[in-house]
Amino acid sequence: MLVGKYRLLAPEEAAREKDPVALGFALAFEDGRELRYVDDKRMGKVYVATPSDEARIPVYAALGVDVLSPDFDRARFAEIARRRRDQVRPFLMDKTALASIGNAYADEILFEAKLHPKTFVRTLSADDRERLFVAIGTVLRTAIDEIARRNEPPEVKVRDFLAVRGRAGKPCPRCGTTIREVRVGDGDACFCPTCQPATRSLFVDWSRVSEPDPTASPEAPVKPPKSPAAGGAARPRRRSRR
Ligand SMILES: [Zn+2]
Repeated sequence: MLVGKYRLLAPEEAAREKDPVALGFALAFEDGRELRYVDDKRMGKVYVATPSDEARIPVYAALGVDVLSPDFDRARFAEIARRRRDQVRPFLMDKTALASIGNAYADEILFEAKLHPKTFVRTLSADDRERLFVAIGTVLRTAIDEIARRNEPPEVKVRDFLAVRGRAGKPCPRCGTTIREVRVGDGDACFCPTCQPATRSLFVDWSRVSEPDPTASPEAPVKPPKSPAAGGAARPRRRSRR
């Protein structure tokens, strides 16, 4: 789905247009219309299955809770989030936990929830988690309604109503601050540094997540070792900052 496109052809178009070279799959309907999947990178896959066989489709079987289903409630979200040690953006995009949020809507949800994309899930307060939970439903349902209202053909990506995604360098629609792009995990996040400030929770206190080092005093300044031989294990642990 990164590169492939669907096209829905009217009967006369389907009869007139030759199959494109990059055609991956075509489904002809009884009324003469045709749904085509065109993918010049050949990355897409099509499975033909009955609903009861859905779990046999490799990716489907591993999907987490459908965030638009009644199964996704506050208790379920809290339970999923409780186990996470990653940053909030990769968490939102982990399909085995939450099905399914892509790059664009991860950014939009974090903007709505006023959370910096690098915030660690385990540092979210109950308040943060509540805003995030509400934002997932609000952002996705608003987008579905907006895209349905536009009624564009399926190959048109309706993205112009998004607040931050694809808008790096442009002003935030809420406060006017320039939208920034930052690398988070495997992807690039767009966010507003004013609406989504980096909080102290971004500074990882590794003493809380790793074995405590009895020789390290959190208050002691970090001194360089006197000689190379004095380095290594005896060196005071530097507090990691990100
Ligand atoms: Zn802003």
